[in-house]
Amino acid sequence: MIILSLLLTSGSFPQADMYNTARMNMVRTQIIDRGIKDRSTIESLKKVPRHLFVSPGYEGEAYNDYPLPIGYGQTISQPYIVAYMTEAVKPYGKKKALEIGTGSGYQSAVLADIVDTVYTIEIIEGLAAEAKARFKNLGYINIISKSGDGYNGWIEHAPFEIIVVTAAAEVIPKPLIDQLAENGRMVLPVGSQAGNQELKLVIKKNGKAEIKDLLPVRFVPFKRK
Ligand code: SAH
Repeated sequence: MIILSLLLTSGSFPQADMYNTARMNMVRTQIIDRGIKDRSTIESLKKVPRHLFVSPGYEGEAYNDYPLPIGYGQTISQPYIVAYMTEAVKPYGKKKALEIGTGSGYQSAVLADIVDTVYTIEIIEGLAAEAKARFKNLGYINIISKSGDGYNGWIEHAPFEIIVVTAAAEVIPKPLIDQLAENGRMVLPVGSQAGNQELKLVIKKNGKAEIKDLLPVRFVPFKRK
């Protein structure tokens, strides 16, 4: 019986095997070899099926070292950037995370494997609806999502120990700083579309935001409704 079921498993999901191999290679060469050390981040990237988050037709490229289209002119970040941002907010053992810019839902899923609950907001209604369906299909019961302008955060669930913003604003939205918990960590790209953007880390200490520059990045613009 065991042999039979093993044969059936490997025989009936050759594609799943292929994606699994591609994902393990991605984690080794793009994530671990480039210096990501946080165990929880690495384990989560090994688990989340990124090929189910990209636009149809791009599944075969899902584990490559670049961003990909997710529809509506938006993109899913390169795997390394997702890992880098996840590690930067030190998610292990944390309860509540807020993400602004759900997009495909990939970053939410990576966080949802580590923290208790992820709240995520997406301004494009079609993308928000697709992500909600994806969370349900994949069984992510600890992701709460909605469509709206994330500039104002999600006051009903604040404060958040973690905030991750995946679209570039010209200045850090004040409501997000206000909704960051004491000792909470927020990571976000800041800058103009034409000019340079910098990934920044905000840490709330004694009620004050301490801001550090992390690395130059390129994200889609933060929109307002
Ligand atoms: N985290 C996503 C990346 C999506 S790209 C993923 O893993 O796939 C960034 C997303 O931010 C886009 O979908 C864009 O529509 C959204 N966005 C831009 N401005 C926003 C705002 N003010 N509030 C919520 N979402 C916003």
